Amino acid sequence: MLCVDEVHLFVHFGMTFRAEFKSLTPVLFSKLRVRGSNTRSSIPILFMTATCTKSIVDTVEKIVGFMFDKDSNIFWPRPDEMQHRQVLLDVQYSTQALHVFKKRTQSLLKHSSAEKYIVYSNNRATVDRVSNKLCEWIDAHGFKADLLKIVGTLLREQKFYHIRVFCRSLCDNIDVFEAGCSEAKRPFNPQLLVATSGAANAGIDDSDVHGVFRLEFPPSIIDVNQEKGRAGRRFHADPSSDWYLLCISLESYVVLLKRLHDTPAANKQIPYFKTQEADMQDCLTAFILPQHCQQAWMEMKQSNPYIPLSGTPLPCLDACAYCLGRYKTMFPTVVRAGIQSVFLQLYFGENPMKTRPTIDKELVDAIKNYPGSNRLLFGINSNKKPEPVLIKKMILMLLAAKILRYVIERKESTAGKFTMSVFGSLAFVSGDPTKLALNEASYWTLLPLKD
Ligand SMILES: [Zn+2]
Repeated sequence: MLCVDEVHLFVHFGMTFRAEFKSLTPVLFSKLRVRGSNTRSSIPILFMTATCTKSIVDTVEKIVGFMFDKDSNIFWPRPDEMQHRQVLLDVQYSTQALHVFKKRTQSLLKHSSAEKYIVYSNNRATVDRVSNKLCEWIDAHGFKADLLKIVGTLLREQKFYHIRVFCRSLCDNIDVFEAGCSEAKRPFNPQLLVATSGAANAGIDDSDVHGVFRLEFPPSIIDVNQEKGRAGRRFHADPSSDWYLLCISLESYVVLLKRLHDTPAANKQIPYFKTQEADMQDCLTAFILPQHCQQAWMEMKQSNPYIPLSGTPLPCLDACAYCLGRYKTMFPTVVRAGIQSVFLQLYFGENPMKTRPTIDKELVDAIKNYPGSNRLLFGINSNKKPEPVLIKKMILMLLAAKILRYVIERKESTAGKFTMSVFGSLAFVSGDPTKLALNEASYWTLLPLKD
């Protein structure tokens, strides 16, 4: 039998190292095909992954040249079998993510020298910066915790070693801890792991992990699911003790967009690129404008797409930000007519914005300085200019509802160096470039409107 494990990585790397992966097909997979059939092989082949989507299945089929028999040869659970509700799925809007993390864990680290926490980031520079700051914070508060750092540039063996060190139980050293000892003699106690998401979101199976924190907007639901899965790995874990906290902001969404689009135009033609864009839009929908239980939504998103769904899974009631009512205060309610008139004026009115506005700066400023925008957009009875954070939240909401869209410009500033700009533009109704989504009632159904 031939086994291909972690097949979702196979798809990701198939994108980056296309030549190598594609060359596997003529030298291996094609030779195992029964002549004249694209579903039967001469020996059993097993493809395995814990995180799959329909598009991953499609891509695997394309790369290896085999079709799966989706009725009988795919073993993939239904939504209710995908439940992982012992970990609270929490969401906060903040540009001060590190501050949010410290606030969440300060008393926890003070009271326990065994419980562990993981901080995930999209990029290495942030991991470096945050690690240094967290080390200073640990020292300043005298926690008995140490910090480990894992980034993508480490060798595979180094990553493996660091994960082993992080997951090692404190039990060996518990006597030393209980007896009390000087800081110098204290055993290394990695209670915190700071890592780039892709480098260390699988393979960590540690019952001491109680909380996982994501510093920025996530690239996909798969990442969220993988990271969230690091917590709650104890028999009695429940959402009051175990949590995954997602920190989102317009700024971190824009950084992620820039990273995704910082690629030659030819790469954007590859279907995998479209998948990544769609994954980011899924995250916008799920975490900016959720319409029902986010645990249930994730279970549906990740469950077997080839089995017809019988209704929506039951809501968790106490294990997600939506069910806990956090969205009542996280995002503002908005006035539809006000947004319509302000945006139409800004884009097409007598004094339109001079250039295409960047979505996180110039558009925010233009809206802020629009006369009476607080009243018009948010129904706030005040002549003061609205807080920028309120406007940024509204922009994310309009992006999630597809009323606003982004336009990316990639320019070569110096040889080989590219600068990225993300502009905000009014979106058209899907399939009809003559109608603005802004003017279509159906596009407003997801938004919390002021009546
Ligand atoms: Zn819920």
